Amino acid sequence: RFITFEGIDGAGKSTHIKRVAQHLRERGASLVQTREPGGTPLAESLRSLFLQQDMDGLTEALLVFAARRDHVQRVIAPALALGQTVLCDRFSDASFAYQGGGRGMDWQVLQTLAGWVQQGREPDLTFWFDVEPQVAAQRRAQAREADRLEQLDLDFFTRVRAAYARRADEAPMRFVRIDAGDSIEGVGRQVLQALENRGW
Ligand code: C5P
Repeated sequence: RFITFEGIDGAGKSTHIKRVAQHLRERGASLVQTREPGGTPLAESLRSLFLQQDMDGLTEALLVFAARRDHVQRVIAPALALGQTVLCDRFSDASFAYQGGGRGMDWQVLQTLAGWVQQGREPDLTFWFDVEPQVAAQRRAQAREADRLEQLDLDFFTRVRAAYARRADEAPMRFVRIDAGDSIEGVGRQVLQALENRGW
C-alpha cells in the first residue's frame, strides 16, 4: 500500500503521519516512512537547492519531479514490490497544488511529468489535510517555521488549497479530505476512521 499525506504548510500533517505509522505498525504492517521533496540522498540534495534558491515555476516543477523520479525508483517502487506499506509526506499532488495552483504551471505539463515519473503508479490513499489558509498561517507563526516558501502570502496558499480541491475532485476514490481545522484529537479520529473504513 502507498499512502500519501498532503496539505498546505501548517495543516498539521506531520503530527498525524506518526500516528498513522503507529496504528499500522500495531497491526503488523512493515512500514517505510519517507517524504518529498526528498527521501534519497540525491532527492534530499535537490530539496536543499529547492528550499534555498529562488527559481521560476517550471524550474521548481522539473526539480521536484527529478527528485521524485529518484525517490520512486530507489525507495517507493522497491518497497511496494516487497509488499511493504509506504507512508509518504507529500507526493505528486503537492506539485499540482504548489507548482500548478501556487506558481501557475500548466496542469497538462504537470500531468505529463507525473505520467513519466509515476509510470502508472498512484497512491492507494491520499490524506488531504484541509485547513483555512488563515488558520495555517497562525500555526506556522506559532511554530516559527520559516523557509523561503513558508513566508508566502494568503493568496498563494488559497490557490494551493484550490488546486488540492481540484485534485480531490479528479480522484475522489483515492482522496480522503480531513478537516484539519479540528483539534489534534479530532483530526486523529478522522484519520483513524478512514483507515478503519478500509479495514487497515
Ligand atoms: O512539507 P514540507 O514542509 O517538507 O515542504 C517543504 C517546503 O516545500 C514547504 O514550504 C512546501 O510548501 C514546499 N513545497 C513546494 N512544492 C512541492 C513540495 C513542497 O513548494 N512540490
